[in-house]
Amino acid sequence: MNNEVRVRFAPSPTGYLHLGSLRTALFNYLFAKHHGGKFILRIEDTDQSRKVEGAVENLINILNEMGLNYDEGPGVGGDFGPYYQSERLDIYKKYCDELLVNGHAYYAFETAEELDEMRKVQQIQGKQTMYDRRARVLSENEYNEKIAAGLPYVIRLRVPLDSEIKFNDLIRGNVRIDTNLIDDQVLLKSDGFPTYHLANVIDDHLMEITHIIRGEEWLTSVPKHIILYNAFGWEVPQMAHVPLILNPDKSKLSKRQGDVATEDYLKKGYLKEALINFMALLGWNPGEGEEKEIFSLKELEEKFTIERVNSAGAVFNVEKLNWMNGEYIKHTEPGKLTELVIPYLNAGGIDTSDIEKTKRVVIAIRNYLNKLDESVEQSKVYYSEVKLNDVHLEIVKSESSKQVFELLGKKVEAMTEITADNFKTVVSEVQKETGVKGKNLFMPVRLALTGEEHGPELGMIAYVLGRVEVIKRLKDALD
Ligand code: GLU
Repeated sequence: MNNEVRVRFAPSPTGYLHLGSLRTALFNYLFAKHHGGKFILRIEDTDQSRKVEGAVENLINILNEMGLNYDEGPGVGGDFGPYYQSERLDIYKKYCDELLVNGHAYYAFETAEELDEMRKVQQIQGKQTMYDRRARVLSENEYNEKIAAGLPYVIRLRVPLDSEIKFNDLIRGNVRIDTNLIDDQVLLKSDGFPTYHLANVIDDHLMEITHIIRGEEWLTSVPKHIILYNAFGWEVPQMAHVPLILNPDKSKLSKRQGDVATEDYLKKGYLKEALINFMALLGWNPGEGEEKEIFSLKELEEKFTIERVNSAGAVFNVEKLNWMNGEYIKHTEPGKLTELVIPYLNAGGIDTSDIEKTKRVVIAIRNYLNKLDESVEQSKVYYSEVKLNDVHLEIVKSESSKQVFELLGKKVEAMTEITADNFKTVVSEVQKETGVKGKNLFMPVRLALTGEEHGPELGMIAYVLGRVEVIKRLKDALD
């Protein structure tokens, strides 16, 4: 055994990547990188009833897109494969047989109806509902006869009674539980497939996982897992159960309250870097005195430690995500940002074939965006045609407006290029030279350039439209 850290992300593919799973993957990734270890992807796909076409491909695509590259797993390979549990059924069978031989597991033949009945009686008696361990007493002859008669069966864990399971969770601290409260968990189902518990423990051992980092919802499974590790005589990996992600009302983040699929956030135009940064701070913080909130993946790799993961639930604050995403958008290089924004503009019906103009639009709007899908609304004014109503026509036709258009037009013609600043300068020159000022100056210019009474700063509009278009629109207004 060497000391290399080996962690795994072990999703059961559901068709989309829940934000909670994204965070689990991220924490595992960061932990592996921080310790120079390995990050493994294992697909837990033994539940045949929950199979979704394309789910694994989707999952792998998103992990790759988010930059959470794994060292071992589907498509990448590694010495501990196969990395799909559905391809490891023989392994689980073999180890389950070992448990049967050693008396750590037993056959049970109850039908669904019988189990239902058992539960009902327990409920009436006010007892904890669990399997009452009745098949433990079957003799070898008895169960062999039932098997020979073709009765369906499951294999259950023989929980050692009247003792205590203790473990130390790296986030939750010491946990202890009375084994009498632990169910004789089904290990192998009647269809021959393993349950999560059996497959998970066997794989974590065989794949030499050193640290199990996963959601808090799995904490209650740990005692069963420890019983299994003990039954096999295996060392128990270190465990860290990360806190739940909560809605602002402190309920568990769920589909009902909004989007939980990472894909949906990417679609709306949250940048992957922002999502990563935001998710890292859900339950983890860089430490006292650290005011900074913007971290690149590389910085997170350096800073991340399990000790700084909170045990309390982490509230998902979408306003904070929006703010953070806005910060990332602002600081994205304009050329790159233009590339990212174009699909949204096109989907919104905006023609972006004048790429230089699109770039200027992006520069004009980038400070106002929280998400890329807002770019359509923000850009419209820069692409609209000037259509004036009667009231606007009156304003544009006035003597003072004409004076302004003429002089401004001349000055712009004399410029080689418009910037927001130099346009402002020429407008104030026009003010001085014509004596037209305030609303009488700005409103006609705004109307001539956009056809709207309100909108972004005039300098920005002129910059985006560009010299040629500004000259044309001032001429049109004069006519
Ligand atoms: N397959 C489980 C899941 O879907 C894995 C839990 C674990 O990491 O042990 O989340």
